[in-house]
Amino acid sequence: MSPKQKTLQKISPYKEVANVLRNDFPQVVGSFIKNIDGKPHYCALGFLAKNKGVKDWELRLRTFLFEGNILSRYGFSESDLAKDRLCPVDGCNSVSTLFNMITHLNDKHKLPPRLIADYEEKMEFDSRKIPSTWQRVRDSVSNFFPKFVNPC
Ligand SMILES: [Zn+2]
Repeated sequence: MSPKQKTLQKISPYKEVANVLRNDFPQVVGSFIKNIDGKPHYCALGFLAKNKGVKDWELRLRTFLFEGNILSRYGFSESDLAKDRLCPVDGCNSVSTLFNMITHLNDKHKLPPRLIADYEEKMEFDSRKIPSTWQRVRDSVSNFFPKFVNPC
């Protein structure tokens, strides 16, 4: 393969998202964008949207949410975006779509963007089976009340 063909080869959307998140940007939790000390800070998804041309005011008013899933601009298929994901953080049994999982890693686990990038990139090849809703409820109850669920 010639060097020119290599540059034309498309990288996977997971890799592209991870590459964007690996840029150093001022991060905020719980909001797509927030001014701190007069400087805009972004959550992971806010920064991913900004990278695809969404303006800061559109992030503030959340108008971009009406234009479809921002991650589709990275080339994810509809089925990729609709697929349930298991949270990659050890001991967490949250399940949600990629869009919500990136928010979850940013807001719930408060991970720095570089770590979100690492986890997001691995989700492309995540073959773990998603436990049933009942199993997940049971697991989260047993985390809080170990003796109640496992009396022995
Ligand atoms: Zn989690």
